[in-house]
Amino acid sequence: MITIDGSEGEGGGQMVRNSCALSLVTGEPFRISNIRANRSKPGLMRQHVTAVEAACVISGSECAGLAVGGSELEFRPGRAVPGEYLFAVGTAGSTGLVLQTILMPLILADGPSRLVLEGGTHNMLAPPFDFIERTFLPVINRMGPTVSARLVRHGFYPRGGGRIEVDIVPAPLVPIDCTTRGEQLGVAGHAVYTGLPSEIAERMLARARRDLAAWSDDAFVVRELPAEQGPGVILMLEARYANVTEVVSGFGQLGVPAESLAKTAAARMKGYIATSAFAGPYLADQLVLPFVLASGGAFTTVKPSQHTRTAIDIARRFTGRRIELTRQGDGEHLFSIG
Ligand code: AMP
Repeated sequence: MITIDGSEGEGGGQMVRNSCALSLVTGEPFRISNIRANRSKPGLMRQHVTAVEAACVISGSECAGLAVGGSELEFRPGRAVPGEYLFAVGTAGSTGLVLQTILMPLILADGPSRLVLEGGTHNMLAPPFDFIERTFLPVINRMGPTVSARLVRHGFYPRGGGRIEVDIVPAPLVPIDCTTRGEQLGVAGHAVYTGLPSEIAERMLARARRDLAAWSDDAFVVRELPAEQGPGVILMLEARYANVTEVVSGFGQLGVPAESLAKTAAARMKGYIATSAFAGPYLADQLVLPFVLASGGAFTTVKPSQHTRTAIDIARRFTGRRIELTRQGDGEHLFSIG
C-alpha cells in the first residue's frame, strides 16, 4: 500500500487524480491523507469526488472515505474496463479534470471507450476544452492511441451544464521526443462569450491585441455562443508550431476587469513564445503521466511548476522509475525517463 501525504508538494487535487490513474495502471493500492489540507476549503470537493467515482466505475475499484469534504481516501484498484460511460460533475466542476483521471487507464485498456462528461468545460484552475483538444491530445495521439474530443456545449462557472464527448482507441504508449517546437505556423486570439455584454469580450480582445502587437489584427476574433450555454466569457490565446500548440487562457471572473485578465494571459503567452521549450507550464504537468507510462521519451519545458514536480514525485512512487528534470543552459528544463 502506497501512502501519500496529500498536503506535501503542490498539495492539490492533482495528487488524488494522478494517484487514482497510476493505481489503476500499476495495480498498486494507495492511501492518501491530509487531502488539500492547506487549501481555503480543505478536503475533497465535488469535482474530485466525481473524478474518483469515475475511476471506480470504470474499474470496479474499492474506495473508502470518498465524500465531499473528506480528507482521507483508501483506494484498492480493479482493472479498467473499456466501454461507454457518462459522468456528470454535479456542479460546474471541470470535465477536463475527470478526463485526466480516467484517460490513461482507458488508453491502456483492451478495447475502445466512449466518454460523455458533463459539467464545466472552461473553468479556472483546470484545462479548458480547447487546451485538451489542441495542446494535450495531439501529443497523446503521437504516442500511439487515437483520442478525439468534441465540445457539445460550453459550461462556465458557476452554472456548468457543459458537455464533452471523448472517443478513445487504445494503444500502448510509445516513447516520443518532444524537445523542439518546430517552426511557428500561426497565432490566434479568441474571446468567446455568452449571456454578458459583448463589450466585455471586446475589451479583453482589445487589450490582448495591444499587448501582442506582433500578431496581425485578423488573428483576433470575438465569438458569441448560444445564450443557454452561459453566462460566461473566456479569452484563449493560441500559438501553433509544427510540433505543438500552446493555448493560454484568461477566464472571466466577477470583479476582475477584462483588461487585467487579458493582460495576464498575453504576458503568459509572450513568456512562452520568448522561450523555445516544447511544453508550457500546464502541458508539462499533464505530460508526466503519459511519458512515465510510455517508459521513456523526453520533452523540454519552461520553468517547472510545483504541479509538475509533484506529479513527478507521485509517479516515482507508483512506478519506481527514474525521472529526471534537468535544467538546461538557457533556463529550459529537460524532462526524461531513465
Ligand atoms: P489541481 O490544482 O491540483 O486541481 O490541478 C489542476 C490541473 O489543471 C493541472 O493539471 C493543471 O495543469 C491544469 N490547469 C490549470 N489551469 C490550466 C489552464 N489555464 N490551462 C491548462 N491546464 C490548466
